[in-house]
Amino acid sequence: MNPYELTISQALKEMEQGELSAVELTKSCLGRIDAVEKEVSAFVTIDREGALAQAENADRQRKTGDGGTLCGIPLSVKDLLCTKGLRTTCGSKMLENYVPPYNATVVEKIKGAGAVILGKTTMDEFAMGSSSESCAFGVPNNPWKKGYVAGGSSGGSAVSVASHECPGSLGSDTGGSIRQPASLCGIVGMKPTYGRVSRYGLTAFASSLDQVGPFCRTVEDCALMMNVISGYDQMDSTSVKQDVPDFSSSLTGGMEGLKIGVPREYFTKGLDSEVEKIIHNSIEVLRKQGADIIEVSLPHTEYCVAVYYLIAPSEASSNLARYDGVLYGYRDMEADTLMDMYKQTRSKGFGAEVKRRILIGTYALSSGYYDAYYKKASQVRTLILNDFKKSFESCDVLISPVTPTPAWKMGENTEDPLAIYMSDILTLSANLAGIPGMSVPGGFTAEGLPVGVQLQAAHFQEEKLLKTSFNLEQGLRLERRKLDI
Ligand code: GLN
Repeated sequence: MNPYELTISQALKEMEQGELSAVELTKSCLGRIDAVEKEVSAFVTIDREGALAQAENADRQRKTGDGGTLCGIPLSVKDLLCTKGLRTTCGSKMLENYVPPYNATVVEKIKGAGAVILGKTTMDEFAMGSSSESCAFGVPNNPWKKGYVAGGSSGGSAVSVASHECPGSLGSDTGGSIRQPASLCGIVGMKPTYGRVSRYGLTAFASSLDQVGPFCRTVEDCALMMNVISGYDQMDSTSVKQDVPDFSSSLTGGMEGLKIGVPREYFTKGLDSEVEKIIHNSIEVLRKQGADIIEVSLPHTEYCVAVYYLIAPSEASSNLARYDGVLYGYRDMEADTLMDMYKQTRSKGFGAEVKRRILIGTYALSSGYYDAYYKKASQVRTLILNDFKKSFESCDVLISPVTPTPAWKMGENTEDPLAIYMSDILTLSANLAGIPGMSVPGGFTAEGLPVGVQLQAAHFQEEKLLKTSFNLEQGLRLERRKLDI
């Protein structure tokens, strides 16, 4: 096995036993990047020198016994998490040359644990999208099938892990951007409870929905990364003071005593039959392992797309007002007046989807329309939350598809924003309710495209997700397949 193929826990073991050094592992990942990056486009920026220096440091720390939980593990980071001294573009021309003067809290945490940051990954501009095709600096490709999307908006992060450029990554999920690309790329991805992981230094898209989380190739690695990134942060006023359990210890025991709810509304028309089959197979595996399977109802599911696409753009229109050419980022130098400078900076700096969201959000928040749109959406958001609360009175974990279909061909939906918005229908409500959710590989379609299984639990019940996904992973024992790169 090449070092770049190792999972985080395998690599840690080899390093602990002195069979592998952080420098060797980092060089192996950089070599893999050299070999496949042209085909997969997972990175906006690759920090070779920085990575090797961090790896040397990790090797020194390991020798003196100061190494942290992720000592010497190369990771990639979505390009909207601030990295001190390392360009952070948000996939946008607006921030093409932006170099943050500070690290996001999660970046500090992984660095503090000894991780090696290889670089920053491609993503939909300002995290708005489901295919990563709106990235201004390269579009990630699905490593399982040429010409297919990787999902989005954290597409580059998912691809870097799926194509073995690194064993783990950090992404962000506002309406599915970790779970959906994890599903379409056949890896594990978790969106923690809102407030579990600090958002300080995460470039804001929709602040009441955004959450940072890990991508990995195994559930065990996901638990390891959750141990490192979770916890209260006084720099984020929405961060919650809640004890952080040892997530790795939840990966024991069978499914006896756990109730798994199957939400009726998630299995309706529009659901691809192969996806449906894979989810039902996973349900059967969990049943055989001793889980109690029951049907539940989330009656307001049909409103989640409408609610999300009012609330997220409203918050985005406010958050993105800061890109005016004055403080940082792109400035149009040809304008003669201040007003023209604002207008042209924003016209040229933002892409089409970002502009569309700013327009929708500004409209929904304007006086006269606020009550009809934003306020109404916020009220229905509460109904969606109440649906979950009710269902978690009778079950521990919800199981469903992540997306109605497997990955689609690039360019297929780019002209039809509504079709793309509809593909988010199964992931948006977890963000609206603030609950944790994850995607774990469930199988492959006949065409060879991966399909993920979505698990959701009540607030701060990530351990139940990890336990269930671990059992599912062990029960399915998916064969190792060859990537299409
Ligand atoms: N696809 C959703 C959107 O376009 C979610 C994106 C995300 O989670 N960042 O807004």
